[in-house]
Order: sequence, then C-alpha cells, then structure tokens
Amino acid sequence: MSEKCIFCKIADKEISSSIVYEDPEIVAFNDINPQAPVHIIIIPRKHIPRVMDLEENDAALIGKLFIVAKKLAKEKEIEDGYRLVINCNPGAGQSVFHIHLHLLGGRKFTWPPG
Ligand code: AMP
Ligand code: ZN
Repeated sequence: MSEKCIFCKIADKEISSSIVYEDPEIVAFNDINPQAPVHIIIIPRKHIPRVMDLEENDAALIGKLFIVAKKLAKEKEIEDGYRLVINCNPGAGQSVFHIHLHLLGGRKFTWPPG
C-alpha cells in the first residue's frame, strides 16, 4: 500500500495536531493555517481522496461530518454565523487529498467566496 496521507497520519496520531473531537469514525482538529478565529478540519477516518470519489455507501459517514460540525459550532460559540466548506480538486483550492470539511467561524464572511 502507498504511503499514508497527512490526514490519515493525524487521525492515527502519527503526527501531532490539535485534535478537538474524535470518535470511531470522525476526527476534527484545528487547522494549522487558520483563516478565521475558529478554523477546524473535520475528516472521516476512512481515506476518501475527494468528493468525486464518494460512493453511495459513504452517505451516512459524510453526513456525520456535518453533525460533528454542528456540535463544534455550538461548543465554540460561533452559532451566529459559520461557514462549512469542502474544496474539490486544485481548481477549487484542494491541497490535501483526504476529504475534509472546513468549519470556519468567529468573523464575518463575504459572498461570493474568493
Ligand atoms: P484544502 O486546501 O481544502 O485541501 O484544505 C487543507 C487544509 O489543511 C488547509 O487549510 C491547511 O492549512 C490544512 N492543513 C494542512 N496540513 C495540516 C496539518 N498538519 N495540521 C492541520 N491542518 C493542516
Ligand atoms: Zn488519508
């Protein structure tokens, strides 16, 4: 098998990160280069590279990313306005090819996004 990706290594605690939530299927940790006062990366432990690689039987797992996001938004007191982002492919800014949901909050956001 090819080398583990950086987010798989974070989930397996082979490299250090600031984990804010974990359960048997999901891990969430603070982004190393935050774009807002709260910037959390939420991943499934399962290595799925991109949205394009999702299969029908991943639906419940991906739904859980949003349930964790909702809980963390409450815990971090950013419920007055937060943004959930998934970048797919380099054209949209994806730089780590292990599917992840960005939870951003604690500041104002503009629309359309950059
Ligand atoms: P994306 O550009 O959508 O693929 O998002 C990848 C995110 O992962 C970026 O916001 C990075 O700052 C973040 N990131 C990359 N390496 C690490 C790391 N070791 N620990 C925490 N966040 C990371
Ligand atoms: Zn991975």
